[in-house]
Amino acid sequence: MEYAMITGASRGLGRAVALRLAGEGMPVLINYRSNETAAKATLDEIVSAGGKGEQIPFDVADKGQVEAAMGQWESSHPDDYVSVLVNNAGINQDNVLTFMTDEEWHSVLSTTLDGFFFLTRLLVKPMLLHRYGRIVNMTSLSGLKGLPGQVNYSAAKAGLIGATKALSQEVARRNITVNAVAPGFIETDMTRDLPQNELKSMIPMRRFGKPEEVASLVAFLVSKEASYITGQVISVNGGLYA
Ligand code: NAP
Repeated sequence: MEYAMITGASRGLGRAVALRLAGEGMPVLINYRSNETAAKATLDEIVSAGGKGEQIPFDVADKGQVEAAMGQWESSHPDDYVSVLVNNAGINQDNVLTFMTDEEWHSVLSTTLDGFFFLTRLLVKPMLLHRYGRIVNMTSLSGLKGLPGQVNYSAAKAGLIGATKALSQEVARRNITVNAVAPGFIETDMTRDLPQNELKSMIPMRRFGKPEEVASLVAFLVSKEASYITGQVISVNGGLYA
């Protein structure tokens, strides 16, 4: 059976993606770092809607945890593989560069880039063997245009765009597509404390997006229909020019 792995699926965008893909009939692996209660709520919602899922906690930035969790999953699922990988887990630790701490720099880069690297390196192998796969990386408007106060986050998300484009060319011949989705301002815990009214006035649609509006793009990109789209960065931002 083919599974979809969504990192950071306990809350926000990852949760919406997991619900959407499960609703379309894919069994989903709900990864998260520590919020067991939220992950269980995501799984419960999937199951009560008739879908199938499993919680699979690990810190994407910790190679040992990634390899142990996926190794365990693979041994208990000898006939299954992950054909859809959504690298969504991400954090921000905003600060102006002059005051940015080493920890703020490293934790943000590591969650996005080490997270992408450790998990994708493992999961792309079975995709290559099966000659089919879909990878979507969650980048950001911040990685396209750069946002002040987010030098770490912009660097991480721009790095993820480079990785998306490079990997897409490595694996294209095996029917594996690799794309990036770049949301603008979406209503989640990550954007809860932002000055919403001030920011809304800059967005042509005059509102923040909803997680479901990002999930519908991800669902298309991981579908069989999106078979000739790869190496792209697609924005979901209500018209905010990037
Ligand atoms: P969120 O509501 O803060 O949720 C973050 C999710 O990532 C949670 O499920 C969290 O798990 C998980 N996570 C964080 N660090 C992790 C780690 N090291 N290992 C595994 N899981 C980890 O964030 P969001 O707004 O949904 O953002 C999701 C992605 O979209 C991020 O990559 C973010 O940068 C990107 N994005 C968001 C926006 C926006 O406006 N919201 C815009 C552009 C891009 P726990 O629940 O266990 O903490």
